[in-house]
Amino acid sequence: SRKPIIAGNWKLNKNLKEVKEFIAKIDGKLPAEDKVDVAIAAPALYLVSMVQERGNNPLKVAAENVYFENSGAFTGEIAPAMLAAEGIEYSIIGHSERREYFHETDEDINKKAKALIEAGVTPILCCGETLETFEAGKTAEWVSAQIEAGLAGIDGKDVANMVIAYEPIWAIGTGKTATAEIADETCGVVRSTVEKLYGKEVADAVRIQYGGSVKPETVAELMSKENIDGALVGGASLEADSFLGLLEIY
Ligand code: 13P
Repeated sequence: SRKPIIAGNWKLNKNLKEVKEFIAKIDGKLPAEDKVDVAIAAPALYLVSMVQERGNNPLKVAAENVYFENSGAFTGEIAPAMLAAEGIEYSIIGHSERREYFHETDEDINKKAKALIEAGVTPILCCGETLETFEAGKTAEWVSAQIEAGLAGIDGKDVANMVIAYEPIWAIGTGKTATAEIADETCGVVRSTVEKLYGKEVADAVRIQYGGSVKPETVAELMSKENIDGALVGGASLEADSFLGLLEIY
């Protein structure tokens, strides 16, 4: 009985006017908060406005990235404590685009996870393999190694409250969704890894999202799977109608 979490990831898109228009369009239309958690990750510049604009709508706001220090001489960075102070509930960490284009390591991502937890912001920890790794049949070992490194030194009680997103890189922005079976299988690998590290209670509690070309037409089957507790959605989260379409099953 894990509560599902459907999250948009806007990546590097939209201007402030479009952000406000989007929130106006979903006003009063989100499903009840006891059924599903609904979040949008947006460029840092817009997060404070989103918290203001959401009003009473059950919309959680997420950062797309964060730094692991709370203050100091780190030009250009944003701190976990800053997010917490502005009412931002989640932060994605370790998205494959951050790992690839900005050279983030598992060690950086682990520090970010710890700093977010300390600040009271829920991490959405991403993992996922390349097409090459997938085709070599090495997905399970790759993803469990990423999870083990990402969670190193974090307490079980905190892991239980985290969100993990499995996003096969070959399915991101390609229109090539993993089949629901493959997505479920690898989300199951993530859960087994958590169980091995922390035991069954924590593994049963942690929420695991699938991400990669999720669309309103494909979300229902994915969400029906045992080990999939939500979705992290790029392209299909950009337009309000499409975003609401992802939530119709709730
Ligand atoms: P798409 O839904 O556009 O494939 O993006 C997935 C993703 O990377 C979400 O974080």
